[in-house]
Amino acid sequence: NSFMQLNLSRPLLLACESLGYKKPTPIQAACIPLALTGRDLCASAITGSGKTAAFALPTLERLLFRPKRVFATRVLILTPTRELAVQIHSMIQKLAQFTDIKCGLIVGGLSVREQEVVLRSMPDIVVATPGRMIDHLRNSMSVDLDDLAVLILDEADRLLQTGFATEIQELVRLCPRRRQTMLFSATMTEEVKELVKLSLNKPLRLSA
Ligand code: AMP
Repeated sequence: NSFMQLNLSRPLLLACESLGYKKPTPIQAACIPLALTGRDLCASAITGSGKTAAFALPTLERLLFRPKRVFATRVLILTPTRELAVQIHSMIQKLAQFTDIKCGLIVGGLSVREQEVVLRSMPDIVVATPGRMIDHLRNSMSVDLDDLAVLILDEADRLLQTGFATEIQELVRLCPRRRQTMLFSATMTEEVKELVKLSLNKPLRLSA
């Protein structure tokens, strides 16, 4: 029961160590090996369970080991609030500190122009709230999701309560069909089940 046994590469193990993580939390132990297979996942997990690292570590591992076109956004993480987006962005920067993986933050309240610059620089990972992400997709040419390999829908139940349910569906449809999708939700409401049907392909289900 250690990070070493999860087949993560050295820069990620070093990051876990520097964050003081001694062993994976239950959701991490369950999620990381499954996510590394490339399959879609649907997980019941709450904030505080360690779910951010549960989706971030296998995603970073994938970026480290699958070659990419130069400067392409490969991962989109959608989360309901600005605060959650800031936390996820900061956690990913810490987990990626010994790699050259870049992560961009796209949320309301920050300058649209500055965020266009961020998007044009094609960070490997974009952490976004749905409202601001859809603004960029509709109103500027700065977003390119053609090379997206991983879509993460964080706190799906709350995501659907933000009043952006249609936008979320639109975002999912704009992502390439061939991709890995991971959905996390504290509760599995009817709306979440609909989103699961729309966005996941034969998902493995887990709860921790
Ligand atoms: P989260 O559920 O992703 O919001 O994480 C909750 C808190 O747990 C964060 O402060 C993380 O830094 C911390 N955390 C995540 N994974 C571990 C771990 N394996 N060991 C100790 N703390 C962790």
